[in-house]
Amino acid sequence: MVYLYLSFDDGPNNCSPNLLKILEEFKVESSFFIVGKHVFGSKLQQKIFKSYPNYSFMELCNHSWSHANDSYKSYYANPDGVVADFRLCRDTLKFSNNIGRAPGKNMWSIKGDSSRFRTKTVPAEKLRDAGFDMIGWDVDWDFNTLKDHQQFMQRLIEIENSRYPKQYPAYSLGHIVVLMHDQSFCDAVNCEELRAFLKAAQSMPNKYVFKKISEYPLFSQRVNQ
Ligand SMILES: [Zn+2]
Repeated sequence: MVYLYLSFDDGPNNCSPNLLKILEEFKVESSFFIVGKHVFGSKLQQKIFKSYPNYSFMELCNHSWSHANDSYKSYYANPDGVVADFRLCRDTLKFSNNIGRAPGKNMWSIKGDSSRFRTKTVPAEKLRDAGFDMIGWDVDWDFNTLKDHQQFMQRLIEIENSRYPKQYPAYSLGHIVVLMHDQSFCDAVNCEELRAFLKAAQSMPNKYVFKKISEYPLFSQRVNQ
């Protein structure tokens, strides 16, 4: 059995409704990493944000307020500023968890986790100490690289078959975190590829199970401690 944690970054934006429609069609457990300033970027984006609680299959997590204004170098050079940026997003949008994803970085920094994949930079440690559970990803379904769902499914099999391979930091065996972006779903072809993938994966319920990111082992183990 392989648990898949689909995560969609950078919303809400004008492509998010297409994505929500697909996920609702397949009732896929999934997670959205929200950029705070995008919520207030337009009336449509505010409306999308307000509609999220209607979708019980998904949960919202923190992808920072500013998304580093896409200047990653200067953003991470000010670790206290990074923590303040995540706090602003959390306090404004009031997420039901403390799970975060660093803008532009595959950062893993979770309290109680001593795995070799833990990110040891100052911003990662400060975010963790401030109570944020920073989660990265194992595979990025970038539609420019993995153009169709067959290629993506092949990549999943490669990850399953390799124990902690260098290029796929399969962080927790049998649990694969997948990164996608809302903006990919303005493209009708990408929407069809996601549909085809979900259909294929759901036809193998003994092989693939979708989960929300808060059900990731490191979080659920901690609850049991
Ligand atoms: Zn992002």
